[in-house]
Amino acid sequence: MLDTPHPTPAAPCLDQQKLATALSGLHFIGGRYVPARSGKSFAVVNPATGQEVARAAEGDAQDVDAAVQDAARAQKEWAKVPARKRGALVHQCAALLKEHAEELARLIALETGKALRTESRVEANVVADVFEFFGGLGGELKGESVPFAPNVLSVTVREPLGVVGAIIPWNVPMLLMALKVAPALVAGNTVVVKSAEEAPLAVLRICELMNRVLPPGCFNMLSGMGPECGAPLVEHKLVKKVTFTGSVDTGKIVAKAAAEKIVPVTLELGGKSPMIVFADCDFAKTVQGALTSMRFTRQGQSCTAASRIYVERPVFDRFVEEMRKAVDAMVMGDPLDEKTDIGTIISPGQFEKVQGFIEEGKKTKGAVALECSALPKDPALKKGLFLRPVIFTGLTRDSRLVQEEIFGPVTVIQPFDDAEAVLQEANDSEYGLAASLWTNNLKVGLDLAHRLEAGLVQINQNLVVQANLSYGGVKSSGLGKEASLEAMLEHFTHKKTIMVNMG
Ligand code: ADP
Repeated sequence: MLDTPHPTPAAPCLDQQKLATALSGLHFIGGRYVPARSGKSFAVVNPATGQEVARAAEGDAQDVDAAVQDAARAQKEWAKVPARKRGALVHQCAALLKEHAEELARLIALETGKALRTESRVEANVVADVFEFFGGLGGELKGESVPFAPNVLSVTVREPLGVVGAIIPWNVPMLLMALKVAPALVAGNTVVVKSAEEAPLAVLRICELMNRVLPPGCFNMLSGMGPECGAPLVEHKLVKKVTFTGSVDTGKIVAKAAAEKIVPVTLELGGKSPMIVFADCDFAKTVQGALTSMRFTRQGQSCTAASRIYVERPVFDRFVEEMRKAVDAMVMGDPLDEKTDIGTIISPGQFEKVQGFIEEGKKTKGAVALECSALPKDPALKKGLFLRPVIFTGLTRDSRLVQEEIFGPVTVIQPFDDAEAVLQEANDSEYGLAASLWTNNLKVGLDLAHRLEAGLVQINQNLVVQANLSYGGVKSSGLGKEASLEAMLEHFTHKKTIMVNMG
């Protein structure tokens, strides 16, 4: 239980700047806030204004070691807490997170530039739901009895792995953190999380809130750079499981480091998710579906974004036009304004990268770029990283915009004539995270769903991560699943066999 005074307000705080200031320069280790041992910190910048809103503790190997040692000590006791009781505590955390949902939504909007109404508030509520879901699963950590011989009792039991090192990205940091921390804790592990450089604040506050309920050391939060803080966490000898969400290149580094220690690793990496629209679809619903599938309200910063849309030729022109109109009607502006649909890109580096793709697309022979929505006029936002969404047509399958993950508000729409040909194009990708199909012909839809190379295929909908449904990709999109009971059992426990000879 948290018994030391800490610098943040106890009650929900709707003044996001005040909360950001209070969270400045701190890790959360062993049940309390602590600064980086080196004394170093780095800037957290509001991407809508370009202003520094807080400092984040710049963690290194010393901080990692302190957090992992504390987590390892705590794990021994935590594993002894009955599984359903651990679940009940995690469930209690969910209730606390619900009370603080609006505060967390405002804080995440401040640090990431994601619009409050369309994205940040949604994320804050889903996070509480994830903890609530896993909190109910303590009793499912069951083993089996195995028939062996009449005089031998042979059983399996589920045991925790130990300290889990979790590394998360900036696009949906609270949710992606919850998908790792909730099952890890319920299964009897303790956790050290390394937050993303761009978005360390809301996850830090969540860690503090949960430490009001959990024993100290069970859940620790570090901020810092990837190589200086993330790498030592992955490499630490007491970290017995690594779970990572981020880019393919970093995922490979993380997987290699885990292999050196022979510890299991779960990887949630990139995507280039196709959306396939047949002429017989429910047209208006599908156009709306394309907006949500492409995650335009998250500026396309999603690994499941439908960044390749294939539309059957008879409805192609109409689809492009309706989609253009729909994206055009979306309001870009201050992320904290309730009227805003679309906020900002996360960082100048990402802004430049996405712009590079757009420029390349525009220069491609035969390509048409439809730039939608209008940049905000408010002078306070003139340094904001606002980028108009772009719909491309006329690009071919070898274009970098069709092959590579852009992670920005850019989608490519291409016509198709034949289901087999579109299936082949959809599968012609190094990624295999998600896909959606839009048709009223379920025979065709189900046939393609079985043959699409993706971890998740949805027909006539494209929802974001849902607790209870396994989520995770194939090919370069990753290894392992998250979000479900199976994910908790497979990735956060090991099965021990115990045999008793009673003869
Ligand atoms: P992005 O392009 O989204 O920043 P990254 O894969 O680089 O994707 O980052 C995802 C997370 O991985 C971040 O928390 C980042 O700090 C961390 N990270 C980056 N490099 C390393 C590394 N060498 N080892 C461990 N973690 C890293």
